[in-house]
Amino acid sequence: MNNKIWLSSPHMSGKEMKYVKEAFDTNWVAPLGPNVNEFENNLQTYLGENNYVAALNSGTAAIHLGLLLAGVTQGDEVLCQSFTFSASANPIVYLGATPVFIDSEPETWNMCPKFLEAAIIDRLEKGKKPKAIVVVDSYGMPAKWEQLLAIAKKYNLFLMEDAASALGSTYKNQKCGTMGAIGVLSFNGNKIITTSGGGALVAKTKEIKDKAIFFATQSRDNAPHYQHSEIGYNYRMSNIVAGIGRGQMEVLDDHIALRRAMHDFYKSYFKDIKGVTVFTEPNTDYFSNHWLTAVLVNPKQTGGKTREDLRLALDAANIESRPLWKPMHLQPVFANDPYYGGTLSESLFQNGLCLPSGSNLDNSHRTRIKLALDNFF
Ligand SMILES: *Cc1c(COP(=O)(O)O)cnc(C)c1O
Repeated sequence: MNNKIWLSSPHMSGKEMKYVKEAFDTNWVAPLGPNVNEFENNLQTYLGENNYVAALNSGTAAIHLGLLLAGVTQGDEVLCQSFTFSASANPIVYLGATPVFIDSEPETWNMCPKFLEAAIIDRLEKGKKPKAIVVVDSYGMPAKWEQLLAIAKKYNLFLMEDAASALGSTYKNQKCGTMGAIGVLSFNGNKIITTSGGGALVAKTKEIKDKAIFFATQSRDNAPHYQHSEIGYNYRMSNIVAGIGRGQMEVLDDHIALRRAMHDFYKSYFKDIKGVTVFTEPNTDYFSNHWLTAVLVNPKQTGGKTREDLRLALDAANIESRPLWKPMHLQPVFANDPYYGGTLSESLFQNGLCLPSGSNLDNSHRTRIKLALDNFF
């Protein structure tokens, strides 16, 4: 049997080992050290001026600390995109708050500005001002930032950007991760760059970055002994892991170009296939890193073939694919939480499939994928 073609697997460049070895050679194996500082500097330079990055051990940790910094606490409500990975919503519950889920709109598949405003107005009428908004750039696609930020400003609400999968994407030339009051990045194994596992919080001031690091290192007060006035967390990135990140930063733009080339491959393949549409940027304001390329399959136009048929056909050829996010408001664990929207995110889940998109896929992989698709259609 052929080797499995994965949806998105780690792609090491060979530049990572130098920094990891440095950490070993200097015995900076313990947490913190020069790699952490340099990785943060690299990210800050990449994101541009007035962004302050705290490297953490996961994107989920960054979301948790971001909500904590927003002041979210027991009994609060947080407006959250429904069409996302569960890690966008779980930390709301860690803090004892309630997620209020919002549907997506069809152009970016991200939070719908109309449903967002309707939800805010309704929650205010019910006597409860939401504490924060969590917007996601799904699959690397920037959300409708102009409209979403205008709504957050109008109602004076804290907006956090979950850009876990959108490092390198831009909206009107502004980098994803820098849109809201706080941004979140992830370096999990399947993301555009990986540190094996890790994440970062992007702040707008050094004070907020320092406060995030304070929480991430067990909230230690300034004293020679261990002294604590606040509850802390063990969320900091290690110096070994940050070494991998430094090497990955050197190839980030190359990896984006390679993912975008995979996207072009699918676009040109599917332009002749009736009933399959490739998810792509609505106009030139949007630049997606195309972390994952996704398609919608309309069985009415494919002679009855569904996205699940396609998934199984690819699986039989040892090619991994995955249905789009099952929206949070349809997840058993969030079944009792409020939801504002229609059926868009539900229909994306019904009909959508993510296809192999890794930067390490080459012509031989594309040939195999093409053959499997030819056989199916
Ligand atoms: C990967 C991901 C996360 C979680 O990041 P981890 O580093 O795995 O904790 C959160 N939100 C979205 C949208 C993601 O894709």
